[in-house]
Amino acid sequence: MNLGEFKLAVGNWSYVLKQDSTTGELIVVSLTPKTLIQKAKEYVKAEISVVTHKISLPVIDQRKEVCSTCDSVKQVSEDRWFCKSCGCGEWERSRLQVKWEMPAATSPLRKWTG
Ligand code: SF4
Repeated sequence: MNLGEFKLAVGNWSYVLKQDSTTGELIVVSLTPKTLIQKAKEYVKAEISVVTHKISLPVIDQRKEVCSTCDSVKQVSEDRWFCKSCGCGEWERSRLQVKWEMPAATSPLRKWTG
């Protein structure tokens, strides 16, 4: 199976990748930073999911567990953790404790998904 050309967003970057049909290797066709509009759409989707979807405590705990061992986590205090890879800055709604409870939020490094 050949994946052809496809898009992938990781962290603050949007990739276009292509699978070489003979070797199967993935080749980066283009790499561009996510636009402010893309980031805003992801944020709005995550905020809306708080009222449209439920999230279970085990999922929240699992997200916390993953972040607690991640090199990108910045622990300011016990209840103020931030992700250095998401590009959100440090404000109330970007705290990881808030994001873990947003059903549609995702880890920018795809370590956990919505
Ligand atoms: S959100 Fe993802 S990248 Fe950020 S600290 Fe958590 S696991 Fe690491």
